[in-house]
Amino acid sequence: MAGRAHSGIGMTSEGTRERLVRRLHDKGISDERVLEAIRNTPRHLFVDEAISSRAYEDTALPIGRGQTISQPFVVAMMTQAVLGEGRLGKVLEIGTGSGYQAAILARLADKVFTTERIGELQRSARQRFHRMGLHNIYTRHADGMEGWPSQAPFDAIMVTAGGRIPDSLYEQLAEGGVLVAPEDAGPYQQLVRIERTARGFEREELGAVSFVPLLQGLE
Ligand code: SAH
Repeated sequence: MAGRAHSGIGMTSEGTRERLVRRLHDKGISDERVLEAIRNTPRHLFVDEAISSRAYEDTALPIGRGQTISQPFVVAMMTQAVLGEGRLGKVLEIGTGSGYQAAILARLADKVFTTERIGELQRSARQRFHRMGLHNIYTRHADGMEGWPSQAPFDAIMVTAGGRIPDSLYEQLAEGGVLVAPEDAGPYQQLVRIERTARGFEREELGAVSFVPLLQGLE
């Protein structure tokens, strides 16, 4: 690659992104809408420039303050788990982090509400959404344990930090809505999909995962 060693542009190209999409498909992500959202979302803009050449590897990456942008496969799996047949109306995310998951959801939902407890991360995610023209994402520097009561009920709720799922989130889920969250299960976390039906909450386990912890209070 003589003469092309500058700035890693090749690593952030559409070709590299397409390779990631193919890998996700091979790993079992079958929903074309999810693959299309990943294809159209430049993940390298959600991490620091110093590591942006790794943005299309299927791994979690550091985003500062001890937090991480989730592994693309996990983002795709969680997105697939909340999607029904049609487009989503209102979605709530707890744990904005880099904003990547919210940006994916913004392509599949009318409105995305996302909360982050670390002010610095919330502000940089908000700037990214603005620069990328994602005007249907609403962010708050707030503790997601409370959900977002004034905007409830939600068609989908996604928690992207691991812990006990707060009761408030069950309460803010619309009937027919789906909540996906990494729940503490002793030494590891179990990704659970909870659907609210007329009869109550139906729970399904999607597999073991590893997320940063869901914490209380603001920073
Ligand atoms: N969805 C993110 C993943 C970020 S990691 C992305 O796509 O990049 C999880 C994030 O959840 C961290 O930024 C962490 O600060 C945040 N978090 C943890 N507990 C929280 C809480 N109670 N309320 C809001 N955010 C929380």
